[in-house]
Amino acid sequence: MVRKHWIEIAWGTFAIGNVAVILTLDRWETIPFHFIWVSLTLVYGLRRWSLRATAATLGTVMIVTAYALAVVIWRGHEELDELSEVPLMAAMFVAMVWHARRRLAAVDEARRRAENEHKLLERELEFVRDAAHELRTPITVAGGHAELIRAAHADDQTGSDAEVVLDELNRLSRISERLLLLAAAEHPDFLNREEVDLKALIEDALRRWSPAAARRWKEHSDAEAVIRADGERLRIALDALIENAVKSTEKGDAVSISSRTNDGHVEIEVADTGAGIPADQLGRIFERFARTDLGRGRRAGGTGLGLAIVKAIAEAHDGRVEVESTPGVGSVFRMELPSTKR
Ligand code: ADP
Repeated sequence: MVRKHWIEIAWGTFAIGNVAVILTLDRWETIPFHFIWVSLTLVYGLRRWSLRATAATLGTVMIVTAYALAVVIWRGHEELDELSEVPLMAAMFVAMVWHARRRLAAVDEARRRAENEHKLLERELEFVRDAAHELRTPITVAGGHAELIRAAHADDQTGSDAEVVLDELNRLSRISERLLLLAAAEHPDFLNREEVDLKALIEDALRRWSPAAARRWKEHSDAEAVIRADGERLRIALDALIENAVKSTEKGDAVSISSRTNDGHVEIEVADTGAGIPADQLGRIFERFARTDLGRGRRAGGTGLGLAIVKAIAEAHDGRVEVESTPGVGSVFRMELPSTKR
């Protein structure tokens, strides 16, 4: 109790001391009088009293200070009009209380909104997680059957129809995985930071991708590009960029992957000498389900979510992604991330 209310107890003692001073001094009584009111205002700024406690304190201070002044006036040390100080000081205090309570109400409201938003995000993530989980079993079962049909009809139309079914099931499974990742990206705990060596990240990507597609693969990395980031998420983003570069190029085209440090941030770049993107499409390709060439996207198993994921991952790291592209010449996608080492 004493520990909890030590400010109030200290202030009460200080106020009583000042009343005693008013009652004993022959002059300068207004100084301790103002001390009482100013200190009351200060204490209120530090504490969150209920309205009732505030009103009771205000009433008590008004009565006690009015009584002390009345004694001083009665002794002939002050004029009667000095009593007007009491309602004036009280009015100043009430104005301060009103302001402080308005501010507190605004802060409470902001906190409530943030909590609601957090709960909504949690619910959305849970829903997408459940939906992705529920989809997994039927997709796996249907895929198993389609594979059996394909194996039994290896040389006829039914076999190639089964192939289409398998491709579409594959796409469905990727869409559900990517939707789950996008929903998770909005969550504050999305990233699991660790030391990430960008040179190793790029070499690993190259090792996995170069046998899969006949391109002129090039790599360049700054030696000291080590940052604190989520290595797994960065790998997903880099893979999405490389996959796009491969899909937009043909045999013999170049795909270059590089990283460099640059004035407080690092850049990871994937450049290709492929089809490029028309200028009027550049603004929308990072949107969910945006495709510049629907035919290519669906034929090549695209989900229309790859770049949305790259953007979400870059932004979760407080970074960004940008693109430069010339149709017929190629594209450069650049992820820019703060080079935080802590
Ligand atoms: P998708 O799964 O269709 O590749 P993305 O979000 O990854 O979805 O890409 C959106 C669209 O942006 C693609 O359909 C494609 O038209 C265009 N695009 C992305 N990367 C490239 C690139 N390197 N070269 C040309 N076009 C690209």
